[in-house]
Amino acid sequence: MNSNRKTIIAGNWKMNKTPKEAEALLGEVLPKAAGASCEVVVCVPYVDLPIACGKTAGSKVSVGAQNLHFKASGAYTGEISAAMLQEIGVSYVVIGHSERREYFAETDATVSLKIGAALAAGLTPILCVGESLEQREQNIMPEHIRTQIKIDLSGVSAADMGRVVVAYEPIWAIGTGKTATSEQAQEVCKLIRDTLAELFGAETAETVSILYGGSMNAKNAAELLAQPDIDGGLIGGASLKADDFGQIIAAAQ
Ligand code: PEP
Repeated sequence: MNSNRKTIIAGNWKMNKTPKEAEALLGEVLPKAAGASCEVVVCVPYVDLPIACGKTAGSKVSVGAQNLHFKASGAYTGEISAAMLQEIGVSYVVIGHSERREYFAETDATVSLKIGAALAAGLTPILCVGESLEQREQNIMPEHIRTQIKIDLSGVSAADMGRVVVAYEPIWAIGTGKTATSEQAQEVCKLIRDTLAELFGAETAETVSILYGGSMNAKNAAELLAQPDIDGGLIGGASLKADDFGQIIAAAQ
Protein backbone atom coordinates (compact mmCIF):
# COMPACT_ATOMS: atom_id res chain seq x y z
CA MET A 1 0.00 0.00 0.00
CA ASN A 2 1.07 3.57 -0.52
CA SER A 3 -0.52 6.51 1.23
CA ASN A 4 -0.58 8.53 -2.00
CA ARG A 5 -3.03 6.06 -3.55
CA LYS A 6 -6.53 4.98 -2.60
CA THR A 7 -6.60 1.61 -0.82
CA ILE A 8 -9.60 -0.40 -1.98
CA ILE A 9 -11.05 -3.59 -0.53
CA ALA A 10 -13.63 -4.89 -3.01
CA GLY A 11 -15.77 -7.98 -2.60
CA ASN A 12 -16.84 -9.90 -5.69
CA TRP A 13 -19.89 -11.90 -4.71
CA LYS A 14 -20.08 -13.58 -8.15
CA MET A 15 -23.40 -15.44 -8.65
CA ASN A 16 -24.17 -15.70 -4.94
CA LYS A 17 -26.88 -14.23 -2.69
CA THR A 18 -30.51 -13.54 -3.53
CA PRO A 19 -31.75 -10.02 -2.68
CA LYS A 20 -32.93 -11.17 0.75
CA GLU A 21 -29.64 -12.90 1.44
CA ALA A 22 -27.77 -9.83 0.17
CA GLU A 23 -29.67 -7.62 2.60
CA ALA A 24 -28.73 -9.90 5.48
CA LEU A 25 -25.04 -10.09 4.52
CA LEU A 26 -24.82 -6.32 4.06
CA GLY A 27 -26.36 -5.89 7.49
CA GLU A 28 -23.35 -7.78 8.87
CA VAL A 29 -20.75 -6.14 6.62
CA LEU A 30 -21.75 -2.49 7.17
CA PRO A 31 -20.73 -2.27 10.85
CA LYS A 32 -17.38 -3.87 10.00
CA ALA A 33 -16.74 -1.20 7.36
CA ALA A 34 -17.98 1.69 9.49
CA GLY A 35 -14.58 2.81 10.73
CA ALA A 36 -12.62 1.87 7.63
CA SER A 37 -10.06 4.32 6.32
CA CYS A 38 -9.91 2.43 3.02
CA GLU A 39 -12.56 2.35 0.30
CA VAL A 40 -14.86 -0.67 0.71
CA VAL A 41 -16.82 -1.92 -2.30
CA VAL A 42 -19.28 -4.78 -2.74
CA CYS A 43 -19.72 -6.03 -6.32
CA VAL A 44 -23.01 -7.89 -6.27
CA PRO A 45 -25.27 -9.65 -8.80
CA TYR A 46 -27.47 -7.32 -10.90
CA VAL A 47 -30.68 -8.15 -9.03
CA ASP A 48 -29.03 -7.29 -5.70
CA LEU A 49 -27.88 -3.84 -6.86
CA PRO A 50 -31.02 -1.88 -5.82
CA ILE A 51 -31.06 -3.35 -2.32
CA ALA A 52 -27.29 -2.89 -2.00
CA CYS A 53 -27.48 0.75 -3.13
CA GLY A 54 -30.33 1.41 -0.69
CA LYS A 55 -28.74 -0.35 2.24
CA THR A 56 -25.30 1.25 1.80
CA ALA A 57 -26.57 4.80 1.22
CA GLY A 58 -24.82 7.15 3.63
CA SER A 59 -22.35 4.43 4.64
CA LYS A 60 -18.66 3.88 3.89
CA VAL A 61 -19.48 1.10 1.44
CA SER A 62 -19.79 1.65 -2.31
CA VAL A 63 -21.59 -0.66 -4.68
CA GLY A 64 -20.26 -2.25 -7.83
CA ALA A 65 -21.67 -4.39 -10.63
CA GLN A 66 -19.81 -7.37 -12.06
CA ASN A 67 -20.26 -6.60 -15.75
CA LEU A 68 -22.01 -4.29 -18.22
CA HIS A 69 -22.67 -4.08 -21.94
CA PHE A 70 -20.65 -1.58 -23.93
CA LYS A 71 -23.58 -0.30 -26.01
CA ALA A 72 -25.70 2.52 -24.63
CA SER A 73 -29.04 0.85 -25.48
CA GLY A 74 -30.71 -1.29 -28.11
CA ALA A 75 -31.53 -4.85 -29.10
CA TYR A 76 -29.17 -6.68 -26.73
CA THR A 77 -31.49 -9.01 -24.87
CA GLY A 78 -30.42 -9.77 -21.35
CA GLU A 79 -27.80 -7.04 -21.16
CA ILE A 80 -27.39 -4.03 -18.85
CA SER A 81 -25.89 -0.66 -19.84
CA ALA A 82 -23.52 1.60 -17.94
CA ALA A 83 -26.18 4.34 -17.68
CA MET A 84 -28.63 1.88 -16.10
CA LEU A 85 -26.07 1.08 -13.42
CA GLN A 86 -25.13 4.70 -12.87
CA GLU A 87 -28.75 5.81 -12.49
CA ILE A 88 -29.46 3.45 -9.59
CA GLY A 89 -26.38 4.53 -7.64
CA VAL A 90 -23.74 2.01 -8.68
CA SER A 91 -20.24 3.49 -8.69
CA TYR A 92 -17.88 0.62 -9.61
CA VAL A 93 -17.99 -2.15 -12.20
CA VAL A 94 -15.76 -5.21 -12.54
CA ILE A 95 -14.67 -5.62 -16.15
CA GLY A 96 -12.85 -8.52 -17.79
CA HIS A 97 -12.98 -10.93 -14.86
CA SER A 98 -11.31 -14.20 -15.90
CA GLU A 99 -14.60 -16.07 -15.38
CA ARG A 100 -16.25 -13.82 -17.96
CA ARG A 101 -13.30 -14.23 -20.31
CA GLU A 102 -13.40 -18.02 -19.89
CA TYR A 103 -17.13 -18.82 -19.74
CA PHE A 104 -18.65 -15.93 -21.71
CA ALA A 105 -16.12 -15.47 -24.49
CA GLU A 106 -15.12 -12.01 -23.37
CA THR A 107 -12.11 -10.75 -25.33
CA ASP A 108 -9.65 -7.93 -24.84
CA ALA A 109 -11.51 -6.09 -27.62
CA THR A 110 -14.86 -6.20 -25.78
CA VAL A 111 -13.16 -5.48 -22.46
CA SER A 112 -11.70 -2.33 -24.02
CA LEU A 113 -15.15 -1.20 -25.22
CA LYS A 114 -16.64 -1.89 -21.77
CA ILE A 115 -13.94 0.18 -20.05
CA GLY A 116 -14.84 3.07 -22.37
CA ALA A 117 -18.57 2.69 -21.65
CA ALA A 118 -18.00 2.61 -17.89
CA LEU A 119 -15.83 5.74 -17.93
CA ALA A 120 -18.27 7.61 -20.16
CA ALA A 121 -21.06 6.94 -17.66
CA GLY A 122 -18.95 8.06 -14.69
CA LEU A 123 -18.43 4.55 -13.29
CA THR A 124 -15.08 3.38 -11.96
CA PRO A 125 -14.02 0.26 -13.84
CA ILE A 126 -12.06 -2.44 -12.00
CA LEU A 127 -10.15 -4.02 -14.89
CA CYS A 128 -9.10 -7.62 -14.19
CA VAL A 129 -6.01 -9.10 -15.80
CA GLY A 130 -4.11 -12.28 -15.03
CA GLU A 131 -2.35 -15.30 -16.43
CA SER A 132 -3.19 -18.99 -16.43
CA LEU A 133 -0.93 -21.56 -14.79
CA GLU A 134 0.14 -22.72 -18.25
CA GLN A 135 1.17 -19.20 -19.27
CA ARG A 136 3.15 -18.81 -16.04
CA GLU A 137 4.91 -22.14 -16.55
CA GLN A 138 5.74 -21.25 -20.16
CA ASN A 139 7.30 -17.99 -18.95
CA ILE A 140 4.93 -15.91 -21.06
CA MET A 141 3.18 -14.31 -18.10
CA PRO A 142 4.84 -10.86 -18.48
CA GLU A 143 4.02 -10.67 -22.19
CA HIS A 144 0.44 -11.80 -21.57
CA ILE A 145 -0.17 -9.23 -18.81
CA ARG A 146 1.37 -6.42 -20.86
CA THR A 147 -0.76 -7.33 -23.87
CA GLN A 148 -3.95 -7.39 -21.79
CA ILE A 149 -3.14 -3.98 -20.28
CA LYS A 150 -2.27 -2.46 -23.65
CA ILE A 151 -5.40 -3.65 -25.47
CA ASP A 152 -7.88 -3.34 -22.58
CA LEU A 153 -6.83 0.25 -21.91
CA SER A 154 -6.21 1.25 -25.53
CA GLY A 155 -9.11 3.71 -25.61
CA VAL A 156 -8.33 5.40 -22.29
CA SER A 157 -6.68 8.84 -22.05
CA ALA A 158 -4.05 9.63 -19.40
CA ALA A 159 -6.60 11.93 -17.71
CA ASP A 160 -9.19 9.15 -17.51
CA MET A 161 -6.65 6.56 -16.35
CA GLY A 162 -6.84 8.19 -12.92
CA ARG A 163 -10.41 6.83 -12.74
CA VAL A 164 -9.48 3.23 -13.56
CA VAL A 165 -8.62 0.55 -10.99
CA VAL A 166 -6.62 -2.50 -12.12
CA ALA A 167 -6.83 -5.89 -10.41
CA TYR A 168 -4.11 -8.50 -10.89
CA GLU A 169 -5.86 -11.84 -10.62
CA PRO A 170 -3.74 -14.88 -11.49
CA ILE A 171 -6.30 -17.38 -12.82
CA TRP A 172 -4.61 -20.24 -10.99
CA ALA A 173 -5.25 -18.49 -7.67
CA ILE A 174 -8.94 -17.67 -8.12
CA GLY A 175 -11.24 -19.81 -6.02
CA THR A 176 -8.52 -22.44 -5.65
CA GLY A 177 -7.21 -21.59 -2.19
CA LYS A 178 -3.77 -21.20 -3.86
CA THR A 179 -2.69 -17.64 -3.19
CA ALA A 180 0.19 -16.03 -5.05
CA THR A 181 3.04 -15.36 -2.65
CA SER A 182 3.39 -11.73 -1.71
CA GLU A 183 6.60 -11.61 -3.81
CA GLN A 184 4.81 -13.04 -6.89
CA ALA A 185 1.88 -10.66 -6.46
CA GLN A 186 4.14 -7.64 -5.94
CA GLU A 187 6.25 -8.56 -8.99
CA VAL A 188 3.23 -8.55 -11.30
CA CYS A 189 1.59 -5.49 -9.75
CA LYS A 190 4.90 -3.66 -10.33
CA LEU A 191 4.96 -4.95 -13.93
CA ILE A 192 1.45 -3.56 -14.37
CA ARG A 193 2.49 -0.18 -12.93
CA ASP A 194 5.57 -0.07 -15.18
CA THR A 195 3.38 -0.84 -18.20
CA LEU A 196 0.96 1.92 -17.17
CA ALA A 197 3.93 4.29 -16.86
CA GLU A 198 4.99 3.48 -20.43
CA LEU A 199 1.47 4.05 -21.73
CA PHE A 200 0.26 6.98 -19.62
CA GLY A 201 3.37 8.45 -17.98
CA ALA A 202 4.98 7.73 -14.62
CA GLU A 203 3.01 10.38 -12.78
CA THR A 204 -0.33 8.89 -13.80
CA ALA A 205 0.84 5.32 -13.13
CA GLU A 206 1.75 6.32 -9.58
CA THR A 207 -1.86 7.34 -8.91
CA VAL A 208 -3.53 4.12 -10.11
CA SER A 209 -4.78 1.72 -7.43
CA ILE A 210 -3.70 -1.82 -8.31
CA LEU A 211 -5.45 -4.61 -6.41
CA TYR A 212 -4.48 -8.24 -5.93
CA GLY A 213 -7.15 -10.93 -6.24
CA GLY A 214 -6.91 -14.69 -5.86
CA SER A 215 -7.78 -16.49 -2.63
CA MET A 216 -7.07 -13.44 -0.49
CA ASN A 217 -8.31 -14.16 2.99
CA ALA A 218 -8.19 -12.99 6.60
CA LYS A 219 -4.85 -14.77 7.14
CA ASN A 220 -2.86 -13.68 4.10
CA ALA A 221 -4.31 -10.18 3.51
CA ALA A 222 -1.93 -8.19 5.71
CA GLU A 223 1.21 -9.56 4.03
CA LEU A 224 -0.14 -9.02 0.52
CA LEU A 225 -1.36 -5.51 1.34
CA ALA A 226 2.03 -4.59 2.80
CA GLN A 227 3.61 -4.79 -0.67
CA PRO A 228 4.46 -1.39 -2.17
CA ASP A 229 2.52 -1.84 -5.43
CA ILE A 230 -0.53 -3.64 -3.99
CA ASP A 231 -3.19 -1.08 -3.11
CA GLY A 232 -5.98 -3.38 -2.04
CA GLY A 233 -7.77 -6.60 -2.83
CA LEU A 234 -10.50 -8.04 -5.01
CA ILE A 235 -11.95 -10.78 -2.89
CA GLY A 236 -14.29 -13.55 -3.98
CA GLY A 237 -15.00 -16.36 -1.52
CA ALA A 238 -13.94 -14.51 1.63
CA SER A 239 -16.22 -11.55 0.81
CA LEU A 240 -19.24 -13.79 1.39
CA LYS A 241 -18.31 -14.20 5.05
CA ALA A 242 -18.77 -10.94 6.96
CA ASP A 243 -16.18 -11.81 9.61
CA ASP A 244 -13.50 -12.68 7.06
CA PHE A 245 -14.28 -9.65 4.91
CA GLY A 246 -14.20 -7.49 8.06
CA GLN A 247 -10.76 -8.85 8.95
CA ILE A 248 -9.45 -8.07 5.47
CA ILE A 249 -10.82 -4.50 5.79
CA ALA A 250 -9.06 -4.25 9.15
CA ALA A 251 -5.81 -5.51 7.59
CA ALA A 252 -5.98 -2.62 5.12
CA GLN A 253 -5.98 0.08 7.81
C1 PEP B 1 -12.41 -13.16 -7.63
O1 PEP B 1 -13.48 -13.66 -7.91
O2 PEP B 1 -12.11 -12.12 -8.17
C2 PEP B 1 -11.54 -13.83 -6.66
C3 PEP B 1 -10.36 -13.33 -6.43
O3 PEP B 1 -12.04 -14.96 -6.04
P1 PEP B 1 -11.40 -15.73 -4.78
O4 PEP B 1 -11.05 -14.68 -3.75
O5 PEP B 1 -12.49 -16.64 -4.30
O6 PEP B 1 -10.20 -16.45 -5.25
